[in-house]
Amino acid sequence: MHDHYDLIVIGSGPGGAALAQRLAPTGKRILMLERGDYLPRSEKNWSSQSVFVDGIYQAKETWTNATGKTFSPALHYFVGGNSKVYGGALLRLRERDFEEVMHAGGVSPAWPLGYAAFEPYYSQAEQLFHVHGQRGEDPLEPWASTPYPHPPVRHEPKIAQLDADLRRIGLHPFHLPLGILLDENPDGTPTAGSICMRCSFFDGFPCLLNGKADAQVICIDPMLAAHDNVTLMTKAYVSRLGTDPSGRRVNAVHVTRGGAQEIYTADIVVVACGALSSALLLLRSASEQHPDGLANGSGQVGRNYMRHHMSVLMALMPEPNDTVFQKTLAFSDFYFGSDDWPHPLGLVQMCATSHAPQIRGEVLPKWLEWLPRAPFEQMARHSMDFWLQAEDLPHPDNRIHYKEGAVHLDLQETNPQALHHLKRKLKQVLTDAGHPHVLLKRSLYFGKDILLDGTAHQAGTARFGTDPAKSVLDLDCRAHELDNLYLADASFFPSIGAVNPTLTIIANALRVADKIKERL
Ligand SMILES: Cc1cc2nc3c(=O)[nH]c(=O)nc-3n(C[C@H](O)[C@H](O)[C@H](O)COP(=O)(O)OP(=O)(O)OC[C@H]3O[C@@H](n4cnc5c(N)ncnc54)[C@H](O)[C@@H]3O)c2cc1C
Ligand code: SF4
Repeated sequence: MHDHYDLIVIGSGPGGAALAQRLAPTGKRILMLERGDYLPRSEKNWSSQSVFVDGIYQAKETWTNATGKTFSPALHYFVGGNSKVYGGALLRLRERDFEEVMHAGGVSPAWPLGYAAFEPYYSQAEQLFHVHGQRGEDPLEPWASTPYPHPPVRHEPKIAQLDADLRRIGLHPFHLPLGILLDENPDGTPTAGSICMRCSFFDGFPCLLNGKADAQVICIDPMLAAHDNVTLMTKAYVSRLGTDPSGRRVNAVHVTRGGAQEIYTADIVVVACGALSSALLLLRSASEQHPDGLANGSGQVGRNYMRHHMSVLMALMPEPNDTVFQKTLAFSDFYFGSDDWPHPLGLVQMCATSHAPQIRGEVLPKWLEWLPRAPFEQMARHSMDFWLQAEDLPHPDNRIHYKEGAVHLDLQETNPQALHHLKRKLKQVLTDAGHPHVLLKRSLYFGKDILLDGTAHQAGTARFGTDPAKSVLDLDCRAHELDNLYLADASFFPSIGAVNPTLTIIANALRVADKIKERL
């Protein structure tokens, strides 16, 4: 089978979906290729046991690390990509993140474009993904040309109390910007017509009500309903990209679908498979003209992989915590350093309420092993859950690649000091704020071994830049070596900062879409 399109977009996550929906009104023939299917709507979607412990929606893949140890990456292959299970925390990188920043573990490099180039697209991305937030609360929030399109998601009483206590000790907590289809009454309850009902399954679960602003709900479904010039093919795995004899143009998109091999062509091809899978696709597409992988004359494809240093900490409190929707607060006071540590630490945000099966499914610390029947329900009821995120730094040897046909992800720690000190500060803050607690490390959210399979915030495997010897993409995210190949996921990131990556992915995809529109 052979069919020609104006544009092919590979991958329907936030990057590919945002780009496609921006270009759909051009009327050009657009083909979206997605290896996964629609995520099933099933009662299991709100089962902690099924989603977190059994990992029913996680890709069944086995990768290998540098020491030969195998692991399952936390990847989700569905229409909408990983945003089907994401937490919807949609923050802008800080203005300084675009500049060179010195960390305890080394240098976070400057981006070749500054914040001003992305600002209009951040505003558009916030509009598109229904971000709820409050300008002026986060002291490090960069300047913005528009207000948030929706009011912040209200804190429940325990979180409002935490907010007040943190302010009392001089911190600046803020409402976490969230992509969510929620309308609240003046008393904070969801309105009768609100799609989201503020349940406890926001973070890491697919939403049964389509109340989360994910790429399927926000981009794919409305686009397909309004534009018959766009075709979405599901269960369509792109195995490789071929080029013309000059090696300068992609002239074949090889697809495996329903057991058959198909070839599609397009004037322009956009790869948005997620930073890890995009690099793998380029590496699989090695040819005579591109012996080390497509667009890989620099040798940089797959390298400089970043994914944040992350930790979920559960603070066990004497008082019960009856909060249902807990993910509403964050603070950035230690983002670029603290009074007792001169280097950047990172961001603290709340995460979804712990459920008993999640805690039960985790490896408990040694000191709790003696408990014959650990009181998991009680632990869940008395816990407050924090998501800590610190910046890791690009390193050429941190890379994804193939070895004898198997996928290898090599990772050495860069800048681990930041997360260590951020944990220490959280402990100190909770004590100073008058919240007696025991802090337990939780790891299930992103898999048991965060170092290996914590691929949720994948970035940086094909960074953009002006020098083709040191970067894979130019400033428009077009491959230096190909005229018609663009990337539209987080692979272009030269550094990752310490905020969640997806708003930046969406903003950049909209920027790249505008560049492509000029050519279509
Ligand atoms: C549990 C969890 C919670 C998260 N929470 C947050 C959060 O709160 N805030 C935030 O900013 N980010 C969060 N993230 C990260 C966020 O989901 C990702 O940053 C985002 O989804 C990346 O978008 P993307 O389009 O680059 O890639 P993806 O979402 O990974 O989409 C890529 C798509 O490409 C498809 N694909 C891959 N290879 C091929 C191929 N060869 N052929 C065809 N199709 C292919 C995949 O199936 C997938 O649908 C979270 C992630 C997880 C897993
Ligand atoms: S909190 Fe809202 S968006 Fe999240 S799972 Fe519940 S209903 Fe869906």
